[in-house]
Amino acid sequence: MKDYFLDPDSMNIDLILNLMRELHEKFGRYFDLENPRMRNEIDGNYASILEREALPEEGSTVNAVFEDLAFYAQGILKWNHHGAMINVNPPPTLPSVAAASYVSLYNGNGAQDISCGYLLTTELAVVKMICQLVGADHKTAGGIFTFGGKSTILHALKHGIQRINPKAIDYGIKDEIVTFSSKQGHPCHSEVGGWLGIGEKNCLHISTDKKGIIDLSELEQELDGALSDNKKVALITANGGTTIQMTIDPIRAIVNLRDKMVLKYHLDYIPRVHVDSVIGWVYLFFKNYDFKKNYLELSETAAAKIQRQLWRIEEIKYADSFGVDFHKTGFCPYSSSLYMTFDKSEIYAQGKQQPIAYEELEYGNYSPFQYTLELSRPLNGMVAAYTNLKLLGYRGYQKLIGQLYNASECLKSALAKETRFQVINTDNSDSFVTLFIVKEHVDAPSFFKLDSLNKGELHNFGLYIQKFYLYLLEQQKIGNCWFALDYSSGYQVLSNGIKIGVLKIYPMSPYFTCEKAIQMVEDLKALLAEFDKISHSFKIKEVPHKPRPFVFR
Ligand SMILES: *Cc1c(COP(=O)(O)O)cnc(C)c1O
Repeated sequence: MKDYFLDPDSMNIDLILNLMRELHEKFGRYFDLENPRMRNEIDGNYASILEREALPEEGSTVNAVFEDLAFYAQGILKWNHHGAMINVNPPPTLPSVAAASYVSLYNGNGAQDISCGYLLTTELAVVKMICQLVGADHKTAGGIFTFGGKSTILHALKHGIQRINPKAIDYGIKDEIVTFSSKQGHPCHSEVGGWLGIGEKNCLHISTDKKGIIDLSELEQELDGALSDNKKVALITANGGTTIQMTIDPIRAIVNLRDKMVLKYHLDYIPRVHVDSVIGWVYLFFKNYDFKKNYLELSETAAAKIQRQLWRIEEIKYADSFGVDFHKTGFCPYSSSLYMTFDKSEIYAQGKQQPIAYEELEYGNYSPFQYTLELSRPLNGMVAAYTNLKLLGYRGYQKLIGQLYNASECLKSALAKETRFQVINTDNSDSFVTLFIVKEHVDAPSFFKLDSLNKGELHNFGLYIQKFYLYLLEQQKIGNCWFALDYSSGYQVLSNGIKIGVLKIYPMSPYFTCEKAIQMVEDLKALLAEFDKISHSFKIKEVPHKPRPFVFR
């Protein structure tokens, strides 16, 4: 039994390295270089798979357990593969994975420093570095790592409620509370209201323009409505980079509007403005990028997009709080989310604590568990974030993101040369995501002129896109397609209310380069030529997973 543990003098550390190797060999059985997914030969639903599982009376050998585990490696979408382009799915850096895993060997609990040692300094250090990034005073601001981007929103709402009624911790919520987000806001902006007893329906989603930016006059109207009804506004969540369009709302204008409301309604609390910047924080690394010298050789379009995103996200310093997901654009393993507030007393207040002054924090009194949502709290996230920030610095993140932009501009212009494909997010988004459609015929109308089609024609137009997606899925499963892209159903709502699904390419890997992008378009073209031969009778047979259904309504 002792063999399963690190011995007191840590002399058997080779065991874990060997275990890693053993897992790697077993997982490797399903490995396929040309395919973004691990091979998958499993048939049947979970109930049939689970027939093989039962709690054993006698334990098994490591070898046997790892064998079982490796069986479940089938079907993994490998985020380290340049062809994995479904969503914000970054490959983590190896040093961050190594560091985050290694710290579990001794004492992985970041509840208090007297237990995990000075490793908890990584949390304070990351907070300081993020403060430098946004231009905040690290002595008065505060931050805590928590279990995900969703939790950063949960914290924002909790702190918003505290502002309205500091007694809410003891006596519960007595006020009628509303929160605001936009129609492009992440679903979790409402969901956290459900978790905290506010109710999801009490999060109002304000309309946006074509670029996904919140309509400020509608926000003002709704704020007026809520406040004159004596409702309390706990939280306005501004988008700091939405998942697909990468929309960043006008943060400063939202803060100004909030301030105007405080005066107008003589509020005795200040409604919280939080920025959901879990993805978009990464543009801040470009604040010292010399766009004139342009050492990364960003294309003109890429540079202009990044520059605009930087200008927008720099307004984050006017908000009350924001979130950072290192497991997204920070290239860290899961989970590594940081909730940041410019006034650290709000964090301490959750545990009814007085804040400890920056100069008085010392080994022995840094005990986050006294006020954090988690009691036992993993060190992994903060150690991973610390590792990457120091490892990559401004320049490293500039390179990672800059390269994704350059590659995706290559992709967009190569796609634009093809008459059967149409890129549809050139003008309405500054993200590095590519949205596009495929047309059945060269002379089919532009995606932006679909209103001329009748319902039947529209149906066929949309169905063709989805069918081609299914064809790509099948080719991927068979091993003829090295990329996994996504189908975003109902992305575009036409003026008659009908939704058309589109294809989405979301590159995240540093191995996805301009050459790969051009290759991808060549291969898409070849696959389309093959699809043309069979498209009328095409029925999908082989799939890596049950595909998204075709939506037409
Ligand atoms: C991913 C995401 C979230 C949720 O974060 P998790 O880490 O998945 O909990 C919230 N907002 C935006 C914009 C996101 O992209």
